[in-house]
Amino acid sequence: MVTETILLVDDDKLILQMCKDALEEAGYRTMCLQEGRSLAAAVASTRPSLILLDIMMPGTDGLTLCRQLRSGPDAFRGPIVIFSAKHYETDKRIAREVGANAFLEKPFSSDRLLGTVRDLLARKISIRFWGVRGSIPTASRDAVGYGGNTPCVEVRVSGVEDLFIWDGGTGLRELGRTLRTSGTPVHGFLCFTHFHWDHIQGLPFFEPAYATGNAFTLVGPAQPTAGLIQIVGGQMASVYFPVGLEQFGAHLAFQEIDEGTVMLGGVQFDTLSSLHPGRSLIYRLSHEGKRVIYSTDNELPAGWKAAGGAAAHEVERFIRFFEGADLLIHDSQYTPEELERKRGWGHSAWTDALDLAIAARVKHLILFHHDPDHSDSFLDDIGSAAQRRITELGASIVCEMAREGDLYTI
Ligand SMILES: [Zn+2]
Ligand SMILES: [Zn+2]
Repeated sequence: MVTETILLVDDDKLILQMCKDALEEAGYRTMCLQEGRSLAAAVASTRPSLILLDIMMPGTDGLTLCRQLRSGPDAFRGPIVIFSAKHYETDKRIAREVGANAFLEKPFSSDRLLGTVRDLLARKISIRFWGVRGSIPTASRDAVGYGGNTPCVEVRVSGVEDLFIWDGGTGLRELGRTLRTSGTPVHGFLCFTHFHWDHIQGLPFFEPAYATGNAFTLVGPAQPTAGLIQIVGGQMASVYFPVGLEQFGAHLAFQEIDEGTVMLGGVQFDTLSSLHPGRSLIYRLSHEGKRVIYSTDNELPAGWKAAGGAAAHEVERFIRFFEGADLLIHDSQYTPEELERKRGWGHSAWTDALDLAIAARVKHLILFHHDPDHSDSFLDDIGSAAQRRITELGASIVCEMAREGDLYTI
């Protein structure tokens, strides 16, 4: 087991020592700072699992430090706890707004401190992007910054042994390479939104599927034409691929699902149909009060917010399903202008996805399923335009472009 590091920042030496002793006795590693100037460097060097910040310090304060930690491309994504000797409700509210996960009022006992720390560290859901490109793998030199692999997202839930994977695009191959080195049997659920090529093509190259001792349940929406085994195995028929599905060494199970709720590995997943040609699902994972949603290949009505009427009505079920999500991964393949020429292809304009996430009070939106024709600089521009739109709307949502390899922990 890897020892978790806790980073403490307080100008009060006595408090620092008390926290340090309690945390180290409980088995955590600690690093203490008496001021915030070297915080960014300390975070980069120690990669802490959790940060504790005092609200009042000479020259700076915990709220400002928290806001800084949560901003920029290298934002800290683990839990942050603010503590304060003053019991102001406004401070608590601001602490939440700047990204703190908990607020401890001084004086607090070491039991209270440990309870908060354990609670936060046990509730982690981590999400890693292995493929963020839509439609077809993209190897263009000017697009590899965001990544060229097609959809695959790895989800780990603390305390749950099973691995969860959303979609088996070509990113699945990369994920499989990392599992090769683990040495222990891999058990997990491979959950497909639907079976278009860009969501299944990584499966024949998923190394852990060939190893005996591993076990995977392939989950996906029931299709009217064939069962999951025929659909997934069909791409490995001899005319397309030299190795058949029957040559997988891992134990495979198949589970067809529909709109509703399903428990996988003890974790609750709710599903909703997306607006996409054929049968396609959106997944919502709920764990310990946190919700992560994977909604790719979903065509929201163009300009639904401004259009109102039937378009806005059609979006209502998504607003209800996404309400208050901690993280929403959403299709944003097109600009509004591009969508005009590609209506009915099953993908959204990023503006419509952002408006929806704001309307549903989502905390963090990741724009996903990038168009193969969009270069890195084009995607940078969409990211900047999204920030401007958020500012114009006075919204507080965090919005980022999906990038291959990025890890989020909530
Ligand atoms: Zn797709
Ligand atoms: Zn599709």
